[in-house]
Amino acid sequence: MLSAVARRALTGAIQVVRGCGFLSSPAMVPRSGHQTLAAAPLPAVQGSPGVRQAQVLDHKRMLQVEWDDGSCSLYPFAWLRDNCQCPLCTLQSAQARSLLLTDLDVHTGMDQVQLSDNSKVCITWPDHHRSEFEPEWLRKRCFSPEARQARQEKLFLNEREFWDSGLQIPMADYEEVLHDDKAALAWLMALRRVGIVYLKGASLEQGQVARLSQRIGFLRLTFYGHTWQVQDKPSANNVAYTSGRLSLHTDYPALHHPPGVQFLHCLQQSQQGGESEVVDGFHMAELLRREAPEAFGILSSLWVDFTDTGSDYCDFFVQSKNRIIDVDGEGRVTRINYNNATRDSTLDVPLDQVQPFYSSLKTFVEVMNRPENVFAYRMEPGDLVTFDNWRLLHGRKSYVSNSECLRHLEGAYLDWDEVMSRLRILRKQVYGDS
Ligand SMILES: [Zn+2]
Repeated sequence: MLSAVARRALTGAIQVVRGCGFLSSPAMVPRSGHQTLAAAPLPAVQGSPGVRQAQVLDHKRMLQVEWDDGSCSLYPFAWLRDNCQCPLCTLQSAQARSLLLTDLDVHTGMDQVQLSDNSKVCITWPDHHRSEFEPEWLRKRCFSPEARQARQEKLFLNEREFWDSGLQIPMADYEEVLHDDKAALAWLMALRRVGIVYLKGASLEQGQVARLSQRIGFLRLTFYGHTWQVQDKPSANNVAYTSGRLSLHTDYPALHHPPGVQFLHCLQQSQQGGESEVVDGFHMAELLRREAPEAFGILSSLWVDFTDTGSDYCDFFVQSKNRIIDVDGEGRVTRINYNNATRDSTLDVPLDQVQPFYSSLKTFVEVMNRPENVFAYRMEPGDLVTFDNWRLLHGRKSYVSNSECLRHLEGAYLDWDEVMSRLRILRKQVYGDS
């Protein structure tokens, strides 16, 4: 039941981006191919049924809770004792466990279970310690596969909406996102789900990416500084700091933990060229898995060396080993790590794997460069694009450099842990929902 509720809430959220976005500010003008973000949709209300009865299943060493709606949940004794919420076992001010594992009997029995008047589950343990659990707290932590899946989706929002060149890019107003919690929540939800959100109306001064990162928490310092200026620079220490074309890439795979989120603010655009391009890397990886499973297998298992040396915030000599397609234990794509400029000439693979690696990479790049997969846009001064650097590959067309009016973008990085933290807090503030 929980998973059905979660699925409905999710489908509703997707529809806002795809079909029925509405203007959240009178100043916003919808443009073809863009979709203004509506306020975040209300999550479906989850009924929180009370407890009908609780029963000790000694032979399984589990507590069975039967809910008012007739469904049942099972909780192992060891887990219940470990998560006792009393002031002795939990430091209330930090909501953190103070019970030590050395003091936990993982083979504990259970002496007694009772229901209090307000439906709390009250347990007495063999050492006379007492624990009380709120029904809602227990229900959220039910161990059924459906409930676990719903809880994980709620916490991590890992369901993504794939797109191609037909993307209706979610849009929002920069100042509104800064000052309105609902707008900020809608922004971050779309950033997670779609991977890119376009903000309009930022002022034409440096410092706007830093201001936006403070809305979340803090930005990610790298060797390129707290924020960085994308401009045509003499003796550039990065290919981005030229006027040349940048092929589709993710930023900073030379780090073992590349930045999760990227902000780019356009202060000045070139008169000719400099258009931006993005592709949905997770979508491309799934296409590759379907069309060329062998290539997918190689790119998701082979560790590739990346390197970055130079001097900026300070001097640096960075080396990493990353898989171009990162997958988790269940084979789900979790991150794309690909930047042809910083892919090292050192290739730490056996000789007979070199050619298959090149063929696989070439196939992947061919898939991502298909016109039907690439979404192109042109940033104008005051535009600020925010995107998932673990998922999207981005590039830009070459441009004609003009010293009179120098193309200038300011960028900053953040990490997903901080972004998701703000998203959860906003969701709680806006919907009282945790
Ligand atoms: Zn306790």
